[in-house]
Amino acid sequence: MPSFVTHLESAIDGTALPHDELQTTHADRPLWVRYDLDAIGRAVTREDLRDREPTLWRYRELLPVEHDENVITLGEGMSPLLPCPRLGAELGLKELLIKDESQLPTGSFKSRGLCMAVSRAKELGVTRLAIPTAGNAGGAMAAYAARAGMEAFVFMPADTPLVNRYEAGLFGAKVFLVDGLINDCGALVHRGAEALGWFDCSTLKEPYRIEGKKTMGLELAEQLDWTLPGSIFYPTGGGTGLIGMWKAFAELDQLGWLDRSDRPRMYACQSGGCAPIVTAFERGERHAEPFPDPHTIASGLRVPKAIGDFMILDAVRESGGQALAAPEAEILPWMRKANALEGISLCPEAAACLSALAELVKKGELDPAERVVVFNTGAVQKYVEAMECDLPLLPAKGEVDWDAIARS
Ligand SMILES: *Cc1c(COP(=O)(O)O)cnc(C)c1O
Repeated sequence: MPSFVTHLESAIDGTALPHDELQTTHADRPLWVRYDLDAIGRAVTREDLRDREPTLWRYRELLPVEHDENVITLGEGMSPLLPCPRLGAELGLKELLIKDESQLPTGSFKSRGLCMAVSRAKELGVTRLAIPTAGNAGGAMAAYAARAGMEAFVFMPADTPLVNRYEAGLFGAKVFLVDGLINDCGALVHRGAEALGWFDCSTLKEPYRIEGKKTMGLELAEQLDWTLPGSIFYPTGGGTGLIGMWKAFAELDQLGWLDRSDRPRMYACQSGGCAPIVTAFERGERHAEPFPDPHTIASGLRVPKAIGDFMILDAVRESGGQALAAPEAEILPWMRKANALEGISLCPEAAACLSALAELVKKGELDPAERVVVFNTGAVQKYVEAMECDLPLLPAKGEVDWDAIARS
């Protein structure tokens, strides 16, 4: 099946670029992938989707890969949308749903973006890939590179969570621990490109990771029978998922697939320890300043400067949503609460969303009767350091005082 892509478009000034050759950025800013939506509308209906396999490739017409043989897949997508009555009650909400991305390949939603980026890179002749990562993106790129038989180079801060440090190497990548932050890793990937001839898969520095993450929005619409929820809480680092979902909703609307054209309010959630988007939102600015001394246990949110800052802020503002910072100290308590109440493997990044959501409800700024969707972007098992913090593990050696346990 050929793709319906017509061209790429600069997000900052609208310049059109051809899609049949490798592209990165334009004027150092990201590119949109544009499709012939009229032709897609003639080729497929939303009813046609029903019989397709439960992966993100069911939306094939809305995806950029040209030839089926270039699809690199580990069976990603169609994550469950789980009702959370206990956690919802704790938050004072009538209907809380968690879109659980922890079950995707490599344990995070990064697989959505990277299966698309790696598939397209392969299609366009790339054999060697590199990426700077705050953690999960490195593992996902390494896995898809292995699947495609391509070489992978991963650069991450030396204090990235332990599991992230090892998984990329296990998937066969060369892993570099950098004394610095993700932007320092990005600078190294940029500098090495000439010497090693690799393609840079950095967030939003190639056009196709957005298209992979867009499928979260497509799935959500289909799972909710083509009526979008009242609000979406999304843990925001580089912002690809939020930008991608906003694009998905626009494309679905243009296809006429939505029963109601109401869009959700988008809430971009960060940690108070690294909140560049929140700062720019509150100042009414379209571009974010680099956040000084960024730190957070939610490692996926430790992105002090995002090149798609204006795309995140435009989407949040158009939607009537907000950018919200969770106090760093609230993240672990919410993570423990959510895991224990619902049995969902909920990561610290999603816990930041819960904290921000709780505060919004408390301030009376969210209608507790509306349908609320929170994205759980990764599996908590990848965060050994965060899990270790003061969880009581009871020793059971020799005689156990059963009565004391019964009283506790
Ligand atoms: C990367 C990451 C994020 C941030 O995602 P963006 O789309 O880049 O904003 C959130 N949560 C987890 C678990 C991540 O790995």
